[in-house]
This record gives sequence, structure tokens and C-alpha cells, in this order.
Amino acid sequence: DSLTAVSVSACFDYALRLFQARLGEAAVEVIRHGPDAQAWVRADPVRLEQVLVNLIGNALQAMADTPSPRLTLAIAVDPEWVRLEVADNGPGIAAERLPRIFEPFYTTKAVGSGLGLGLSISARIIDDLGGRLEAANNAERGARFTITLPRDASCD
Ligand code: ADP
Ligand code: MG
Repeated sequence: DSLTAVSVSACFDYALRLFQARLGEAAVEVIRHGPDAQAWVRADPVRLEQVLVNLIGNALQAMADTPSPRLTLAIAVDPEWVRLEVADNGPGIAAERLPRIFEPFYTTKAVGSGLGLGLSISARIIDDLGGRLEAANNAERGARFTITLPRDASCD
């Protein structure tokens, strides 16, 4: 198969490079937390990067009207799992929408700016790796997406 040992930190690096110009134009403050060591998973790196690109793209769209936009990328590890977080300080997700956002073609965006497939495909990719993708709102403001994947300890 196409699964290899993937550094989640390197995936974040890749996704951030892709968005570098847009992050700069929108003056988004980027905050990174977490270790680089031991944060390895077995995955198809291109697909995992695609998931991160989807989540960061959503965060940027959500923060379009946010005065001091802030993107927080966090990695946490324990013996069994690696957890990746993509959080923003946009408007967050209304409680009645939260249960629907992973449905295929569910979008609240204007025609042409979102197909509503990003989260359903992302959840499927993470599911196939034995992990899960979850959405929540931050205590303060904004949305937070959490990816939990089995940790690949063979790279320690
Ligand atoms: P699309 O981006 O094409 O609308 P997605 O599957 O990526 O489709 O997202 C589905 C919906 O989930 C979005 O239309 C939006 O309502 C909501 N959503 C996703 N990410 C965020 C976020 N960071 N902040 C607020 N709402 C979000
Ligand atoms: Mg999207």
C-alpha cells in the first residue's frame, strides 16, 4: 500500500508553505505548539497533507472578517496516539450546524466558494487510518478540529 511513516510536523510545514502567501496577505498570526519528535503516524503523506490543507483552508475562510485572525496548529503525543489540532478564532460553528458539517455536500458557503466535500473526504481519510476527526468550538471564540491517529512508535 502507500502507507509510510509520516512526520505530522512535516505535514504541517508543507501545508503552511502552501498557504504562506495567503496567510501573509490576511495578516494571520500562526501559533504552533507541540513536539516534533515522536509525532509519527502511518499514513499516505499526500492524503494527510490534503486533510490539513482542507482544515487550514476552512479556518482561513472562516476568519475572513475576523479583526486579528489567529491560526493555532498543535501536536500532542501519548504512547498510543498522535493528536493534531487546527484551531481558528473566527465565528465558530453554530450548535445546530455542528452535527451536519461532516455530511457530503453540506456547506454554508456561497455557491462557488465551497462544495461541502472537504470535511466528509477528510473524515473518510482519517477513518481509513484507524483514527478520527472531530469538530468543536473553542471556549473563547472560533472552531477547533482535532485529528487523532495511532502513533507509529517504530520511528522513535
Ligand atoms: P466547504 O468548505 O466547501 O463549505 P467543508 O466540508 O470543508 O465544505 O465544510 C463544511 C461546513 O463546515 C462549512 O461550509 C462551514 O459551515 C463549516 N466549517 C468548516 N470549518 C469551519 C471553521 N473553521 N469555522 C466555522 N465553520 C466551519
Ligand atoms: Mg472546506
